[in-house]
Amino acid sequence: WTFSKGQEYMWWNNVETKPYGGYPQFWDTRLLELLDGAHQKAGREAVWDASKKESKTRPYGVFDGMTVFEAARAADRRDAVVLGYEPTDLEWRFPNIYEDTATGSKDRRDSLNLEPAALPEHATWFFYLQRLCNHCTYPACLAACPRRAIYKRGEDGIVLIDQKRCRGYRKCVAACPYKKPMFRATTRVSEKCIACYPRIEGKDELTQGEPMETRCMAACVGKIRMQGLVGIGADGAWVEQRDNPLYFLVKVEKVALPLYPQFGTEPNGYYIPPRWVPRAYLRQMFGPGVDEAIERYTRPSRELLAVLQLFRASQTVIFRHEIVQGPKVFETTVDGQKWEMYNDTVIGYGRSGKEVARVTVEEPRLVRADKHYNSI
Ligand code: SF4
Ligand code: SF4
Repeated sequence: WTFSKGQEYMWWNNVETKPYGGYPQFWDTRLLELLDGAHQKAGREAVWDASKKESKTRPYGVFDGMTVFEAARAADRRDAVVLGYEPTDLEWRFPNIYEDTATGSKDRRDSLNLEPAALPEHATWFFYLQRLCNHCTYPACLAACPRRAIYKRGEDGIVLIDQKRCRGYRKCVAACPYKKPMFRATTRVSEKCIACYPRIEGKDELTQGEPMETRCMAACVGKIRMQGLVGIGADGAWVEQRDNPLYFLVKVEKVALPLYPQFGTEPNGYYIPPRWVPRAYLRQMFGPGVDEAIERYTRPSRELLAVLQLFRASQTVIFRHEIVQGPKVFETTVDGQKWEMYNDTVIGYGRSGKEVARVTVEEPRLVRADKHYNSI
């Protein structure tokens, strides 16, 4: 999408190496510092009260602090409805800065800690953070736009910038906590991820009218991404549907968590946190659900293991899954507890109810015939 003149720096989807990388550079630490300043000024603390958990409406407890909306008032920025900042040209310049750079010995990035790696926390670590517009439930970009050029579609939640209404004031660029709207100097208006809406609408003939996953999902050779669509009830909450893989991962097993939930936009991208990273770092990034998520996928339930196989099994959006039980194929001990693996088959169905994916927990083994030995 973004190869035209003026779009050269626009990485609507980028992968950055944490903890040092970021695009634009420092996007999260700069906002965390601004939020911290606003809390200090207001004499408040930003803390999670995980004891107030309630499975449906407060799965991670209650955040007792200010969101980017509330902090704008406290920070005495009465002209702004969202606390934010506009990145500098320099910060937009290096999309891959610190790529694959691990944490070093204390205070030194250039000398690795040579202690052996051992869970639960590696002494030397990094991880990849895939970032794109979260099509937030409460989009800060939308709230900040004085032209009302940004809107969220009722049918699928996609957040779009109306290119005809936008006048390039860049309020959305400053307001988005994830820094995903980008200003195009050649057209003098801002642009952002459009969630490949023709694919979501089922306009791509390949899926014959079924909603199709976005290009960045479909292109993931690492098979680590899955997209879904869930029903939204009259109360604004997700309609309970245990056999929707996305609902299952986010609401039932709770292994997928929102990025910086404390910002308050309710982002709709969810991440399965890496288990080798210091927990304090993960908690500030994905909230208090981190420990439970890691525990659950380290010894996955039979259903979770099966549903995880659906990642990239199809580029048609899977609306429902079904599991056909198979035989036990493996048994071991994880964290001192017995764990068994079953070769179940998981079947995914599209919106129309048509089968679009069928995979087993054990990957089928294909043996190349002798006559093709050493050939490609
Ligand atoms: S991630 Fe940013 S650009 Fe995307 S909807 Fe949320 S606030 Fe708007
Ligand atoms: S294609 Fe998938 S695995 Fe590869 S970098 Fe992108 S998100 Fe990561």
